[in-house]
Amino acid sequence: MSRIELKGINKYFDKNHILKDLNLVIEDGDFMTLLGPSGCGKTTTLRVITGLENPEQGIITINDKEMVHGENHFYAAPSKRGLNLVFQSYALWPHMTVYENVAFGLNMQRVSKTKTRERVENALERMRILPYKDRYPSELSGGQQQRVAIARAIVTEPKILLLDEPLSNLDAKLRLDMRAELKRLHRELKTTIIYVTHDQVEALTMSTKIAVFFEGNLVQVGSPKEIYHCPSDIRVADFIGNPKINFVDADAAAYSDSLRVESAIGTLAIPNRQPFNGKAVLSIYPEDIRISTERTETGIPCIVDSVLPAGSETLIQMSAEGNISLLAKMIGEIDLEIGKPVWIAFPLEKVNVYDKETGKLVA
Ligand code: ATP
Repeated sequence: MSRIELKGINKYFDKNHILKDLNLVIEDGDFMTLLGPSGCGKTTTLRVITGLENPEQGIITINDKEMVHGENHFYAAPSKRGLNLVFQSYALWPHMTVYENVAFGLNMQRVSKTKTRERVENALERMRILPYKDRYPSELSGGQQQRVAIARAIVTEPKILLLDEPLSNLDAKLRLDMRAELKRLHRELKTTIIYVTHDQVEALTMSTKIAVFFEGNLVQVGSPKEIYHCPSDIRVADFIGNPKINFVDADAAAYSDSLRVESAIGTLAIPNRQPFNGKAVLSIYPEDIRISTERTETGIPCIVDSVLPAGSETLIQMSAEGNISLLAKMIGEIDLEIGKPVWIAFPLEKVNVYDKETGKLVA
């Protein structure tokens, strides 16, 4: 079992309050990604879990054993916590070859020479760096070093693995391969993984759970599906969309089983929502927008501002009445003339409504 619980964690650097009353449970077997913009406290969270930083307040337990009790000034040594950490700055031993770096942990565990060779070569193969096994770290690119660091961490098949932006130095294709490999590793080894990234696509593709941070606050924890389809806060919605999600200001009023919203793009009846009256913001994903070049009865009129082909998909920027800018994402190559009118539609059940004042989702 490998369960980690953080209760009421507060961390300060001088007078700066960096982690604000953080409560988070990482269950055995989770692939938990800490996601958020630069400086929101993701790495600091990882560092307080490992013991590289000490929080002033709060409790951390690993498998129900107390490792940190801030108020009592109790902090178990990092080596006593049974964690395995890979940092963005991989910290390989410069005097050892790739093979020796990766074999080091197994040598410490007195694993036989034959078994060590088998496991090291398997880890290097998975990370696509077997051909470099006799090189020294200084003879490798940043991305190759990063993969050696991951191989070194996974070769001992740790129960808990902490990864801080481990794919940041890889090119786009290799990053895709490595995401698939890490996901496969997680499935095969059943390791509990805590993964830090600011890349929402990375988080959505690999994780079983995502914890979204803003300015030291944990704003939402959920499955990738929940985080993507129902961001609980408008900041999460803004951060998660790729390309950027559309926001439209509206006035909402509760009706029997729907919300009636008045906005510059028309009056809409959004089904199955909690009652809410007041200023609201609607969010609409670009991929939910359908475009017609023929006038339709319920279609919202727009003018095409730009068409951005991106290989397998096309992004279309449009403006609607009231100077509302809307972005649509269509599969394939789409031919639309700039400056021409189009009519758009989207499924109302997919529209999320946020309270403009608090930024919270109207569920
Ligand atoms: P990034 O994605 O850029 O790595 P992050 O979300 O991991 O960002 P942290 O590294 O946890 O963010 O930093 C959170 C805040 O704490 C930042 O404002 C940072 O400047 C500050 N901070 C981090 N480490 C220290 C330190 N040792 N001393 C003072 N301030 C620090």
